[in-house]
Amino acid sequence: MGKVAIESLGYRPKPIDPDFLTKYPETGTHHNHKVYAEGVQRYDEDGKPYPTKLGIHGTMVAVDFEACIADGACMDACPVQVFEWLLNPGKMGTGQDLDLSDKPELKAKYACDKSDPIRESDCIFCLACEIS
Ligand code: ZN
Repeated sequence: MGKVAIESLGYRPKPIDPDFLTKYPETGTHHNHKVYAEGVQRYDEDGKPYPTKLGIHGTMVAVDFEACIADGACMDACPVQVFEWLLNPGKMGTGQDLDLSDKPELKAKYACDKSDPIRESDCIFCLACEIS
């Protein structure tokens, strides 16, 4: 499926808030990483409410699930396979995200597939994911 067209999302993703650890509550854990701000209404680049309240997954390798547009670039760039598609377990990389176009319930809940930092502890802080 590949890169999600920003226009098709109906919102404008905003870069992750560098102060998220102090601004938002820890709301749970998932695959050995912490989740922050799940259920919290946050706002996009235009100040409009995001349609989802999925939160931020991971602490050191933090992926803002509201801002993730499933382009897979972070996965392609990562040399130690930290990431996996949330809705397509076992798969990573551009074009391997689950196509939600015929799955309205998943589309309503997630907007698009999300890059989950399932092996956060393997991260070597090369920052390739951030640059990509
Ligand atoms: Zn997760």
